[in-house]
Amino acid sequence: MKIEHLFKGVRRRPPNVSPPAEIESVQRVFLPLQPGVKALVEAGQEVAIGQLVGASEDSPAQNVHASVSGTVAGVEMVTGVAGQPVNAVAIINDGKNTMAPAEDAALAIREPETLVSHKPLELAGRLDQAGFDISATVGPKPYISMNGVKQIRKIDYLIISAVDYDPPVAPNQASLADIAQEELVLGISALVHVSGAKKVKLAIPKGGVSKDLEKLAYDLNWEMASVAAGQYPFAWDNLLINQLTGREVFFPEGDSRDWGAVVVPLPKVLELARCLMTGKPATTCTLAVSGDVNQPKVLKAPCGTPVKDLLEACGGVSGDQGKVILGGPMKGQALFDLDMPVTKDMDGLFVQSAEKMAKFSDHPCIHCGRCVQVCPVNLIPGELGKLCEYNQFEEAADKDLFQCIECGACAYVCPARRPLVQLFQYGKAEIQAERMEQ
Ligand code: SF4
Ligand code: SF4
Repeated sequence: MKIEHLFKGVRRRPPNVSPPAEIESVQRVFLPLQPGVKALVEAGQEVAIGQLVGASEDSPAQNVHASVSGTVAGVEMVTGVAGQPVNAVAIINDGKNTMAPAEDAALAIREPETLVSHKPLELAGRLDQAGFDISATVGPKPYISMNGVKQIRKIDYLIISAVDYDPPVAPNQASLADIAQEELVLGISALVHVSGAKKVKLAIPKGGVSKDLEKLAYDLNWEMASVAAGQYPFAWDNLLINQLTGREVFFPEGDSRDWGAVVVPLPKVLELARCLMTGKPATTCTLAVSGDVNQPKVLKAPCGTPVKDLLEACGGVSGDQGKVILGGPMKGQALFDLDMPVTKDMDGLFVQSAEKMAKFSDHPCIHCGRCVQVCPVNLIPGELGKLCEYNQFEEAADKDLFQCIECGACAYVCPARRPLVQLFQYGKAEIQAERMEQ
């Protein structure tokens, strides 16, 4: 299917991608423990890859598994994404890659046909235990209907995305270059089984569909959607759903399952399939490292690898180091500390050398309207920015401030260089604080 649309947003250079490469040597990993997750290991203890080293009583998806084999150095403090201190299990890598025996290896699923012998809830629980958080994201959502009866929300569309949130950081597209058909089929079949989805759609960057994939999709009745890889923020879940199904998910925190659709990035599908095939939890992260590094790459690294090791594996920063941004140049967040470990929910790093960092101050709005032309959710960003700047928060809320997804497309095109996203964040935080007090 060819998508013809009038999508708003900005054009970014489509990324050049090569298949993910394994990172060679990591001396130490730091596995962050979410609040409520208890460390199960002590300093000096030997661990193997896949061994449970931290367990949550409330959410098995937060369980932590060793990503390298070696000796536990202890529970140490590391820096989190927002600069906050976080406890993490530190493991010194012995380089032997000793694997822990899979607890349920006998239950490993290799053939999609055998999935039916597992109840969807049981399969979702198993994937949660392996760290995928399937029940809360892809599984059908229970809700209480108007007449007080518990119902299950049906999922119509399962969308597998090989387009990236913030090009040029492109782990999803890189995974497409490294696809094993049996993994793709098993991963998608498992997600269909868990979610009950009626239709599968593959969102593939224009020109990225191989003949083999086309044939596979035809045989299995998956729909292919060819989308422009450099169109930002097209690949954001709720926007992708809107473009591929016509359904409009309310922002900002609408759960897309309420609209009968879920989006799963391609690398997650492949990881999930490997986990099912081996009966072992996922312990690697796939991250694209791009921007001002000597050898931009997509890397498969053990979870908990420090950011500085990833930069080193890419030949280091070219020029003087400026910012290292987690996520990408448009939606990302500059990091406080390069010792920060990477986790499964991260997709890439973008490096900006000191020479390329723009030094500017903003100017008053000149009412050019460019921000309106690019806003993918049809807001009037210039006006919202002024309302937030002058503390007219309720007026901003009335003009749909909370529909803003903070994609930054408006700030990117603004000739006055207005700090629009920061103004929106400020406005939202003030409104929320005021509402909490009431
Ligand atoms: S107003 Fe919000 S959603 Fe619209 S372009 Fe700006 S940041 Fe993106
Ligand atoms: S793009 Fe910038 S200058 Fe132009 S209307 Fe929007 S906020 Fe004002």
